[in-house]
Amino acid sequence: MKIIMLGAPGAGKGTQAKKIAEKYAIPHISTGDIFRANIKNGTELGQKAKGYMDQGLLVPDELVVDLVADRVKQDDCKNGYVLDGFPRTIPQAEALDHALAEMGEKMDYAINVEVPDENIVNRMSGRRACVDCGATYHIVYAPTKEDGVCDKCGGSLILRDDDKPETVKKRLGVYHDQTQPLIDYYTNAGILKEVDGTIEIEDVFGEIVKILGA
Ligand code: ADP
Ligand code: AMP
Repeated sequence: MKIIMLGAPGAGKGTQAKKIAEKYAIPHISTGDIFRANIKNGTELGQKAKGYMDQGLLVPDELVVDLVADRVKQDDCKNGYVLDGFPRTIPQAEALDHALAEMGEKMDYAINVEVPDENIVNRMSGRRACVDCGATYHIVYAPTKEDGVCDKCGGSLILRDDDKPETVKKRLGVYHDQTQPLIDYYTNAGILKEVDGTIEIEDVFGEIVKILGA
């Protein structure tokens, strides 16, 4: 089962992608996580990506397309995967289709997690990420057991720099300009599914399971 998660920044793509990955035993591939890991490890890719990410801009297509095309060819992707944060532009979607076609494969579902802009800034300012394992929480909607401490690994939690309100507004603009057109792209491909992302996390997941099958 090959799945793309679509939606604005903060819509809940990562939250749902992790749950899908666990239930269906497929890898969760988050390009944002891959870039953040590269920044943390001081790689050349990380250094190139950081400037764009800090400004709320997309990293150029050429830095992300080959990375994902290589990742989905790995052995653990044989039974499918869930892509989170990729594709984010039409050229990325076309490149993905091309890479899949070369393997005689195609995407099964593009799930759009629908959340209005008004809710997004609030979502993002409450998001907290673990510096060690990347797990995400929300101070109100998905709190940790102990304040500021990751439930999974005990690491410290931070507010991502790009989750500060000014950058979030910029990212939303970028989303509407460059990523939202993918909704039409995948509608035309016949694989778009919509879920309401404003309901509770478990209820959103329930809707997704109805789409994917138990
Ligand atoms: P994305 O991957 O789309 O950027 P996240 O999955 O990181 O978004 O979610 C953004 C923030 O909103 C996180 O703090 C997360 O805990 C919280 N969140 C996710 N889904 C919901 C929901 N259905 N209701 C309330 N808060 C949510
Ligand atoms: P995310 O964790 O998905 O919110 O991504 C954080 C940031 O990483 C984005 O704001 C972009 O700067 C960058 N990024 C992640 N995925 C992509 C992608 N597919 N294309 C371009 N930039 C990306």
